[in-house]
Amino acid sequence: MAHYEPAARVTRIKASASVAAAARVRELRADGQEIIDLTVGEPDFDTPDHIKQAAVAAMDAGKTKYTSVNGTPELQAAIIERLARHTGIRYRTSQLTIGGGAKQIIYTALMASLNRGDEVIVLAPYWVSYPDMVLANDGTPVIVECGEDVGFKLTAAALEEAITPQTKWLILNSPSNPTGAVYDADELKSLGEVLIRHSHVHVLTDEIYDEIYFGEGRLRSLVTVVPELADRTLLVNGVSKSYAMTGWRLGYGAGPEPVVASINKLQSQISSCPSSISQAAAAAALTGDQTFVEDSVKIYRERRDVAVEGLNRVPGLSCVSAAGAFYLWVNCTGVIGKTTPDGATIVNDQDLVLYLLESASVAVIQGSAYGLAPYFRMSFATSLETVQAGVTAIGDALAALR
Ligand code: PMP
Repeated sequence: MAHYEPAARVTRIKASASVAAAARVRELRADGQEIIDLTVGEPDFDTPDHIKQAAVAAMDAGKTKYTSVNGTPELQAAIIERLARHTGIRYRTSQLTIGGGAKQIIYTALMASLNRGDEVIVLAPYWVSYPDMVLANDGTPVIVECGEDVGFKLTAAALEEAITPQTKWLILNSPSNPTGAVYDADELKSLGEVLIRHSHVHVLTDEIYDEIYFGEGRLRSLVTVVPELADRTLLVNGVSKSYAMTGWRLGYGAGPEPVVASINKLQSQISSCPSSISQAAAAAALTGDQTFVEDSVKIYRERRDVAVEGLNRVPGLSCVSAAGAFYLWVNCTGVIGKTTPDGATIVNDQDLVLYLLESASVAVIQGSAYGLAPYFRMSFATSLETVQAGVTAIGDALAALR
């Protein structure tokens, strides 16, 4: 075979750990093994019917052509109304970008803005993609560890210390994947005070889980709490998680015109536009009946409570409850150093995850993939029975350690 050398941007990054974990589960299942899969990063529900019907209607009406780079008028209006409801800000169409998922928008935003040497502040534990997306686009991720003592959240002091003249972006993700942590208005205000002093720093707020919030009222966005930052904040959201539409691949961003224009210029060369059918479905999701969102949050909450209770009863594990999203971030310090029935030592969270998969057929993801160890991420975007079976199997497997 001819020698092929991928680009440096590819060799310096890793494939997504969560995508890899999901692929491994599929492989084991194809081999006939029964796996309790707690790696899932997507709702187990089907897309609501009225959303699917909107897609069918769009096809029937011949809405099967390219659209403008930043979306159909229907989708633009739906996004503008949705953002006005949630943030109090009425964005103009020239401030909107759409893409094949929030993921693709974040990637393109970094591609559109980073030059070699530009720094991006990424908080650990982080969504696995952020550091690699920065690296792939010639930037330098500046990882700020936000441990359990600070609720896995960035403090004003830590932010102040991380900012340099090279800082281009701060990436915030609330509710957080993997910890479920949510910033309240006071916390956002104190981060805002630091950011106001450093006018060269832009903020990318990834709010993809904002509907999946277990607290009172509506979650507050940085741009609502600190409106002065709206002219340097790119708000990223989408329909994947709130409406169980991960496969439709539709996300959106809203922010300052120069930032959005640079993203849309790249999108015009990368994709032209996301699927017109998915755009019609997303418009229906954002403007239609929201009962699905409310109902699914109730279901997630019940699963979360069962899992938190069960995991905290397992000697060696502890976890705080998630304020949003559908993951638990489990501290496994108490298990490190123990010995398996086969005589192997659990040296780190990666060993623990392998042990759980091999001895208990439970799949979770090691904290080290998210930049903080020793932890593991457990998803509760799966049936209550699976959550219960998983927690029981984890407890049994850990009881066998010496
Ligand atoms: N941000 C975070 C924090 C996520 O967890 C995910 C999905 N795993 C995304 C963005 C991407 O979502 P989308 O399906 O819209 O690309």
